[in-house]
Amino acid sequence: MDEADRAARLEFLRTFLAERDMPCPLCGYNLRALQAGQCPECGSEVEVTVGLMEPRMGAFVAGVGGLAIGLGFNGLLMAWIGWMMLARPRSGPGLEIMLPLIVGFVMTAGALVGWLKSRRRIRQETFGARVVLVMLCYGLSFGFAAWFFAVAR
Ligand SMILES: [Zn+2]
Repeated sequence: MDEADRAARLEFLRTFLAERDMPCPLCGYNLRALQAGQCPECGSEVEVTVGLMEPRMGAFVAGVGGLAIGLGFNGLLMAWIGWMMLARPRSGPGLEIMLPLIVGFVMTAGALVGWLKSRRRIRQETFGARVVLVMLCYGLSFGFAAWFFAVAR
C-alpha cells in the first residue's frame, strides 16, 4: 500500500465515521467522528473493509448437521450392537445387522470430510444447488437409517 492509497483509505474512514456510531472491533469504543486511523481508547489501527452482505454459511452448517445425524446414528448403534454381541454372543443380534451401520458410518464420515473441505465451493453455488446439496446430506443419513431398519426389522 503506497502513501496515496493510505491517505485515501484514511480519508474514506473519516468520512465513513463522521456521522456513524461504530464500535471499535477490539474494545467496543464508539469511533464516531474519528480523525486518526487508530482507536483513541485502545490504540488499535482501524480501517474500512469490504465484507459479504450475506455470509452464506447457512447451507454449509445445515449440511454438517445432516451428515452429523448419520454419523452419530451409525456410530452409536454400531457401538451399542457391537457391545451386545460381545456380551451375549449366542442370543445377541447377528452380524448382518452391522453391515448397514458400518457402511453408513464410513460413507457419512467420508461425506462429512468432503463437505468440510468444500466449504468455499458450497458458498459459491447457487441457492437452488445449495438446497439440493443440503437435502443430499440429510438424504444420505436417513437413507442409511432406512437400510438399517429394513435389515433389523
Ligand atoms: Zn479500541
